Amino acid sequence: MKILVINCGSSSLKYQLIEMNTEEVMCQGLVERIGLADSVLTHKNPIGKKYVVNGKFTNHKEAINIVLETLLDKKYGVIQDINEIYAVGHRVVHGGEKYSNSVLIDDEVLCHLEECIKLAPIHNPPNITGIKACKELMPNTPMIAVFDTAFHQTMPQEAYIYPIEYSLYEKYGIRKYGFHGTSHKYVSQKLGEVLNRDIKDMKIISCHLGNGASICAIKDGKSIDTSMGFTPLAGIAMGTRCGNIDPSISTFLIEECGYTPEEASDSLNKKSGVLGISGVSSDFRDLEKSALEGNRRAKLALDIFYYRIRGQIAAYAAHMGGVDAIIFTAGIGENSSITRKSCLEGMDFLGIKIDDKWNDVRGEIVEISTEDSQVKVFVIPTNEELMIANETLEVLNNI
Ligand code: ADP
Repeated sequence: MKILVINCGSSSLKYQLIEMNTEEVMCQGLVERIGLADSVLTHKNPIGKKYVVNGKFTNHKEAINIVLETLLDKKYGVIQDINEIYAVGHRVVHGGEKYSNSVLIDDEVLCHLEECIKLAPIHNPPNITGIKACKELMPNTPMIAVFDTAFHQTMPQEAYIYPIEYSLYEKYGIRKYGFHGTSHKYVSQKLGEVLNRDIKDMKIISCHLGNGASICAIKDGKSIDTSMGFTPLAGIAMGTRCGNIDPSISTFLIEECGYTPEEASDSLNKKSGVLGISGVSSDFRDLEKSALEGNRRAKLALDIFYYRIRGQIAAYAAHMGGVDAIIFTAGIGENSSITRKSCLEGMDFLGIKIDDKWNDVRGEIVEISTEDSQVKVFVIPTNEELMIANETLEVLNNI
């Protein structure tokens, strides 16, 4: 049984075709520069052979069309008939308060997704365009929406209500939603499998550290708090995003520094975080190298990054009344042993101890805590595509 996973960005589209019986990725690819004259599809089949199609894909429908043609291609494709695709799982960034689970997409769901555009004006429109394009091209194939926000719908009110005028929540839905839910859910479930334990009686802190980064407190298998907020700008410092700052800074930028609202938003989303502090890069490989070579601001950027993660972990341990396990995942979490070590430095007071030998690992499931550490610390590579495919299947099995 094959499931196609689609992740549509504003000018890009990522896809994977997964054989669910074996969880094998049959092929994967990326269409970039959709809408521009020099669009390109890069497709990889199971043995990693690359196939590139250059062209002009004016919109997401044309992009999906070329993806389907490629899947069916005699030489590079992996299926003979489009009906071999059992269902399509779509990553959707924002499901608002309406969706705490993945859902079969019908006209009513599409209407709700359009209502959520105001909450995610950059992300939801391409997600919806992708769904509509797929529906047109594959009218008989079930489509499932898997939301980044859904996993966090279990947060209690004290975690998601902001201390601002309550009417703003009631009227505009201004509250914490949280993101990266698919990843936090995947790695916490994987931890349960690895430990052969039911996570329903565990306290877990999941650190998804990529370009975008968020931390999630998972108690009894449910998200009870997470660091991203109303938008993915909140929380810990990130590659280019500021994370939590005094909200007056945005009005100060506009009123005193002469920024337009767009420039202020651009500054906090794209020119802040470790890039903004260091002036070097948002990429941790560059930053770690620069800091080692003595660049003071690169070191400061990294120190701020670690400091905020440490504080968030401690806060979540307090909210859960302890912590049994910490997970590191995503680009930085899976690859940077320096980050993992530095974030957890001095946290033996919480029973957290890292083994340097085990911590010297990259991109595989490994327990990196010492034998006498009360808290188990794991590196667990995330797999959002597989999680989306699993959720897609689950929705269909429960209909
Ligand atoms: P996203 O999906 O949010 O774009 P990823 O999860 O792919 O991000 O993470 C990308 C980041 O991972 C890069 O910007 C880089 O900082 C970091 N990264 C990747 N490999 C390494 C490495 N070997 N050492 C340190 N950081 C790494």
